[in-house]
Amino acid sequence: MRKGPPYLPADAVVRVRGIGPSWAAELAEKGVQTVADLLDHLPFRYEDRRRPRPLAELRPGELATAMGLVTSLNRVRTRRRGMEMLTALVDDGTAAIPVVFFNRSYLGDFMAPGVRLLVHGVPRWGKRGVELHNPEFDILKEGDDPALVTGWMPVYEKLGPLSPRRMRAALREVTQGVGELPDPLPAALVAARGFPPRREALLALHRPAHDADDRELESRRTPAHRRLAYEEFFFLELGLAIRRQRRQRERRGTHYVIDDALRAKLAAVLPFTLTNAQTRVLEEILADLVTEWPMNRLLLGDVGSGKTIVALRAILVAVHNGRQAALMAPTEILAHQHAKNLQRILLPAGLKVDLLTAGLPAAKQREVRERTATGQAKVVVGTHSLISEKVAFARLGLVVIDEQHRFGVVQRADLVGKGQSPDVLVMSATPIPRTLAMVMYGDLDVSIVDEKPPGRPPIRTVVRGHDQRERVMEGLARALAEKRQVYVVRPAVEEGSAGLKAAEAGLAEYRARFPGTAVALVHGKMPAAERQANLEAFAAGTVQILVATTVIEVGIDVAGASVIVVEDADRFGLAQLHQLRGRVGRGGVRSYCVLVASDGAEGEALARLHVLEQTGDGFRVAEKDLELRGPGEFAGTAQSGLPGFHVADLVRHQEQLLAAREDAFALVERAGAGGVDRALVDEALRRYGDRLKLVEIG
Ligand code: ADP
Ligand code: MG
Repeated sequence: MRKGPPYLPADAVVRVRGIGPSWAAELAEKGVQTVADLLDHLPFRYEDRRRPRPLAELRPGELATAMGLVTSLNRVRTRRRGMEMLTALVDDGTAAIPVVFFNRSYLGDFMAPGVRLLVHGVPRWGKRGVELHNPEFDILKEGDDPALVTGWMPVYEKLGPLSPRRMRAALREVTQGVGELPDPLPAALVAARGFPPRREALLALHRPAHDADDRELESRRTPAHRRLAYEEFFFLELGLAIRRQRRQRERRGTHYVIDDALRAKLAAVLPFTLTNAQTRVLEEILADLVTEWPMNRLLLGDVGSGKTIVALRAILVAVHNGRQAALMAPTEILAHQHAKNLQRILLPAGLKVDLLTAGLPAAKQREVRERTATGQAKVVVGTHSLISEKVAFARLGLVVIDEQHRFGVVQRADLVGKGQSPDVLVMSATPIPRTLAMVMYGDLDVSIVDEKPPGRPPIRTVVRGHDQRERVMEGLARALAEKRQVYVVRPAVEEGSAGLKAAEAGLAEYRARFPGTAVALVHGKMPAAERQANLEAFAAGTVQILVATTVIEVGIDVAGASVIVVEDADRFGLAQLHQLRGRVGRGGVRSYCVLVASDGAEGEALARLHVLEQTGDGFRVAEKDLELRGPGEFAGTAQSGLPGFHVADLVRHQEQLLAAREDAFALVERAGAGGVDRALVDEALRRYGDRLKLVEIG
C-alpha cells in the first residue's frame, strides 16, 4: 500500500506513514479507523517550546528548550549500579553539551551522529559543565521543518498502542499532509458566527500557531476550541430540537376535559393553599393537558418547594379522564412515602393508590401487576420495578418521574413506552444549572417552582473542621435536650460490606455517646422492612437520632427533624449537601445544618463547603458545584447519559452552547414540515444517536 500524503479524511489509518497494520488493527479496536478519527483526538495540553535558546546560554536549574546536531554518541555501563548510560553530544555552534539518557540505550538507534535533536528540560552541573539528564526530546528527520518542533508542543493521551510520543508523530505526519476536510456545519452558520472552518480549527489545535494566546490555549477558548465546542453542542441541540418537533406532531388521540366536577375534586383534595409558583406551574401543566399533544415537561424546583402536590393534581386530571397514572421514584423509601401521602390525600376522592416495589412480597407484586394490566389500578407508585418487562398498563396516560436525575434517559423512555404517547412530567429537586438542563433535557418544556411554602425560616448552615467535632457533639447534646430530632449522615465511603460497617459503627458511636436517646439506622443495604420500620419510628418521633447514609438524600419528609449533621462533608458534592440540608426546615422551627469536615480536609475542599454557609438558593449552589466539579461528577448526573464531548465544556463554553441551541432550534423551526437537511440529521444521529433515539426520523 502506498503510504504518505495527501491524506483524505476517509483514509484508513494504516495509510499514515509510521502506522503499520498491527497498530492499525489495535487502533481500530479503540474505534479509530480513519484519518478523520485520528484527527478527532485532540491534545489535552500544550507545552511552550517556542523559544529555543543557544546551548551556550543554558543555565543549571532553568527549564529551557534548545536544539542542535548530535556529533557523537557514547554508550557506557556504569560499574557500580550496572546502569546503561547513553550520552549524545549535541552542538549548535555556540556550545556542545552532553545529553545523557539512563537505561534507555535503545534510543541510540534513533540518534546517530548527524541527527538534529530538540531537547527540553532542566540543565544541571555535571563533570563536563552544563549537562542535560533525561530531557524530553524530539528528533528531526531529514528535511523536517524545525518549526515543527519549536512551537507549542501538543501533549496527547496514550491511544491504544500509540504512546503520547507516537501520537504526536502520527498527528504531525497527518496534519502536514491532510487534504480537504468536509465541514459538517451549515456554511451560513459558520460564517454568521465568525468561526474558522473545521479543517483550520483542527489543524490549529494539533499545531497551534506560534502567536496563539497562552491564556486562550490553557482555558480552551481559542477560536478553534470555540468552534469545535459549538459544533458538538449544535448537533446535540439539533437532535433535541427535531425530537421535540416530532413529538409535537404526534397526537395523544384524546384531549382531557377539565370540567366543574373535576375542578371541585381538585379543590377538595388540597390540604393547603398553593404558593404563587405552584399555581403558575400548575396552570402550565393543565394547559398542556387540555391540548391533544402529549405533555413533555420538566418540573424543576428546589427541595421542599412542593412539587409533589403539583404532580398529584396532574394525576387527578388523567384519572378523571379515564387514564392510569404512574409515578416512579428512585428509592424504595421514597416510593413508600409518596404512596402513603398520595393515598392520604386521594382517599377522600375515593381513589386507591397501588404500590409496586421489589421489596414487597412476590404475591403482593403479582396482585398489583394484575390490577395494573386490567386497568383496575388507577394510580400506581413504584420504583424501577415499574419498568420491568412483567409490568403492563391497560391505559397508561400520565407518567411522573420523581428525582429525574437519578434515572437514566433510557429508563425514562422505558416507562413512557408502556403507554401510547402518554403525558410525561419529570421532576427534579437538584436545581440544574440552565446550561446542563439544555444538554440533558433540551427537548422538554421547563417549569420552575422558585418559591417555597410560607413559614419556612432559612436553615442556618455552619462548617466545622474535624478538630471541632467534640464541640459539635456538645451542641448536639443541647439540641437533643431541646427535644429536637436529628439526622446524622455519614458517607458510605466504601461500597458493600465495608460501607455497611461504617454505618453500623456510626450507630454504635451515637448510642454510646447519647445513652437514653433513641438512635436508629437506615442505609441502602438493609432489608426494606427494617429500613421502613426505622424511618417510620423517626417520623413518629419515637426515634430521636437517625443515623443514615445518603439514602435520605432524596425526598424524605419528616417535619419534626430540625438538625442535620453531615460528617466528612467534604466527601460530598455541594448539590448533594444542599439536598441533604433540605431534609430539615420543613416544620416551621428554626433548623440547623452542621457540616463537619473529614480529618485532614483543608484548603479547597473546605473552602467549597462555605458556599453552603452563604446561600440557601439551590440554583446558586448547583452553578457553583458544576463549576467546581464539572458536569460528569455533578450530583450523579454521570449515570443519566450526559453526552461525552471532546472539546465542549459546559462551564467554559456556555456562550457557544447558547449560540448552538439558538441556531439549531431556529433551523428546525425554519425547516418546518419539510424537515431538516438529511445530512445534518445523519450527523446528529451519528454523534448522539443512542442518546437521542431519533432513529425513527425520516
Ligand atoms: P419537593 O418539591 O421537595 O418534592 P414536597 O412536595 O415534598 O417538596 O413538599 C415539601 C413539604 O411542603 C411537604 O411536607 C408538603 O406537604 C409541603 N407543602 C407543599 N406545598 C405547600 C404549600 N403550598 N403550603 C404549605 N405546605 C406545602
Ligand atoms: Mg420531592
